[in-house]
Amino acid sequence: RSAGLAGPTPAGTRAGMPEYEQGRVIRVDAKVCHVDLGDRVVLAAPRGALFEKLEGVKNPITVGDMVRIDPDGDPVHVHEVLPRRNHLSRVASSHDPREQVLFANVDQLFCFGSVKKPKFSSNRADRILAACLYHEIPATLILNKIDLDKKGLADEIEETYRAAGVKVIQTSVETGAGVEEVAELMRGKTTALYGASGVGKSSMLNKIEPSLELKVGHISRHWAQGRHTTTHSSLHPVPALDAWIVDTPGIRVFRLHDVNTRELRDLFPEFAPYAERCHFPDCTHTHEPDCAVLDAVEAGELSVNRFASYLELHDEADPPPNYIPDVEPDEDP
Ligand code: GDP
Ligand code: ZN
Repeated sequence: RSAGLAGPTPAGTRAGMPEYEQGRVIRVDAKVCHVDLGDRVVLAAPRGALFEKLEGVKNPITVGDMVRIDPDGDPVHVHEVLPRRNHLSRVASSHDPREQVLFANVDQLFCFGSVKKPKFSSNRADRILAACLYHEIPATLILNKIDLDKKGLADEIEETYRAAGVKVIQTSVETGAGVEEVAELMRGKTTALYGASGVGKSSMLNKIEPSLELKVGHISRHWAQGRHTTTHSSLHPVPALDAWIVDTPGIRVFRLHDVNTRELRDLFPEFAPYAERCHFPDCTHTHEPDCAVLDAVEAGELSVNRFASYLELHDEADPPPNYIPDVEPDEDP
């Protein structure tokens, strides 16, 4: 839970010092941040010092950060990042193990999925929901396109996630079901939106706030699957709801940063009542005999998809500090 970085300089106004103004970062490009000062948006370059104490973090500034800038500077600089209320991070990429902070200072996250077209991805949802739990960001699963659901899949998915402690709203932009409930949940808040392309995020937001004019079906199949898709979060006002949204396009694989295997177990809270009955008190539910979690999966009491996500995340997680591998030492010859 690092990356709560504050700027290195306690900025203030002294004689001969620049006049600082506070604003909210709404977009971060390669070298420049777009800072909303309330009455205008200013482009500002992060001061070099902000890059000095990064300690394994890729980006010193992220969307949603409150920053202090010198609006009359030439060029304008970001001098300080104010302490964050929260943030969401992942591993930057498969070639870059550093922490990438995707956004900061949100009230909640909506994880969008569709029942069909595209088919619901438990793995994708489980990764982001685990990250939200880890970073203490309240998450809601928005299950869209229920107009296409003829087999009761939506109810099944809802049951699984409710058991995991996640709020679920079933929606259809097509029929309007649930859309009002989603809008009301956004009112007065900053909400991060996450989900695969094609699940209906743009359609939903346009229905809620037509002035956003988000392009529906814009991301082509080719682009969405391309290897060089970049991640550019951005913050948008939704005036009708007195709200903000953080859009997070282009995130294909969300790998948890700096979560160890012990912490991971707590990110699947529905396992807990079963885990108490595992033979080993520190059972990891991956290979141990008499594992009550595995038994519950086999008995259909826990979701097999959620368990598969857990095993995958477990493989990716770091061992806890002072971890002693659970293997017999080699005997001396
Ligand atoms: P995004 O990539 O998540 O922003 O998804 P879009 O909003 O671009 O929607 C992708 C496609 O799904 C578009 O053709 C939409 O018209 C369609 N769509 C969105 N919501 C629904 C829904 O509730 N039901 C049905 N049947 N189609 C939907
Ligand atoms: Zn177990």
